[in-house]
Amino acid sequence: MGFWWRPLGVLAGVLLVALMLWAGSGWVAALGFLAGIQAFVMLRRLWQEYRLARWLENPDGAPPDATGTWGDIFYRLEKLQRRQRDSCSELTSALEQFEHAAQVVPDAMVILNGSERIEWCNPASRKYMGLDSERDRGQFIRYLMRQAPFLEFLDAVDYSRRLVCKSPVNREIILSMQLIPFGENKKLLVARDITDLERVDAMRRDFIANVSHELRTPLTVVGGFVETLADAPDLPATESRRYFDLMLDHTRRMQRLLDDLLTLSRLESEERSLKDEPIDVPELARALQTEAESLSRGRHRVSLRLDSSATLKGNLQEIRSALGNLVSNAVRYTPEGGEIILAWSGRDGEGVFSVTDSGEGIAAEHIPRLTERFYRIDRSRSRETGGTGLGLAIVKHVLTRHGARLDIRSTPGKGSTFSAIFPAARIKPVGSPESGKVIPFREREQAAG
Ligand code: ADP
Repeated sequence: MGFWWRPLGVLAGVLLVALMLWAGSGWVAALGFLAGIQAFVMLRRLWQEYRLARWLENPDGAPPDATGTWGDIFYRLEKLQRRQRDSCSELTSALEQFEHAAQVVPDAMVILNGSERIEWCNPASRKYMGLDSERDRGQFIRYLMRQAPFLEFLDAVDYSRRLVCKSPVNREIILSMQLIPFGENKKLLVARDITDLERVDAMRRDFIANVSHELRTPLTVVGGFVETLADAPDLPATESRRYFDLMLDHTRRMQRLLDDLLTLSRLESEERSLKDEPIDVPELARALQTEAESLSRGRHRVSLRLDSSATLKGNLQEIRSALGNLVSNAVRYTPEGGEIILAWSGRDGEGVFSVTDSGEGIAAEHIPRLTERFYRIDRSRSRETGGTGLGLAIVKHVLTRHGARLDIRSTPGKGSTFSAIFPAARIKPVGSPESGKVIPFREREQAAG
């Protein structure tokens, strides 16, 4: 109603004046007055319409100045225009944000129209699908990506399905693609790099296959002997003794495998080493020398070189098991009469525990893979000597948890040196204020029961 009161008020005033004129001066004067007012209103309207038309040509400036109804109209038009301008800039900034987000999204995204032509694609689609947002806009996706599985995937129009395929740009990259319908007949094609996931999955499959394979042989042997013993209860005592010994051997092998698997799983599930303590490495080295001699049963010469008396900050149980694995490998892969040297030394502040043997050595191509689970150069040799194929995987895990690394040097036919290199931060020269009180680990092991 706010808009109407003013014109109605003016109209009422004009009519009142016309009536008064009619009463005082006759109807000619009244009609003359009304005609004059009409002419004035028409001229004013024409003028304001002209001003409005000029303003609309360039609405960015201020609206024309006017009072009354026209002022009201200009004010409302300006308000409308301001609102439109605001929503336009909101839309532009939303679009810009979307554009920026699409630039950094790691997945490839392609918008296809109803006839499968590319309307838009982000930079990741160049990396994974070889598409260019400028060059390929408006192109049929089928002409650019012609692999049969992809074309079948497009034809299937099954939006719940995902296509796992190799990237047409780089065959090493595995992609998972999905089509998502949206808007009117449009589709969003999303391709995600799942190379790492696939690799982990392949590792998991290999691991299960390996464990099953490792357990199947001893289980079959034990099962076979049990059946033989059950079918032939009168077997001579020496014969059955031999069978029992073999069964025991294979049972121990399974036990060792399970122990190693549990150790690995514990190392993988606990992120950090349990509890750090100062370890008296020279004393640990002496204990490992004794262990090596007992494993060797006099077949090798085992010596010790202690060039450092520094202690090591770490978890004794884990370090002992890792270095023990290196020592046991040296004994197992060195033929009778060979030599094994355990050494502890310092190098540029780092601590180096090395196990050198004069054994069969390792060809260079095997060295990078030795710490993979179940990787063995000679499977039967490893089994004969009681190996599980997990020893060096455990060593690598323990060393990584201690910020240390494993260095392997070997010459086939001459021997190998496996060195555990500990960072300076974990090495404390004896007598340094930080070295703490070192409790001989034999005492600690006894205390731990
Ligand atoms: P395994 O239980 O088979 O010994 P490891 O993980 O300890 O498993 O070692 C992996 C493989 O590395 C072994 O099968 C063996 O072929 C090789 N290897 C390890 N230590 C030595 C060594 N000192 N000399 C020669 N080969 C070795």
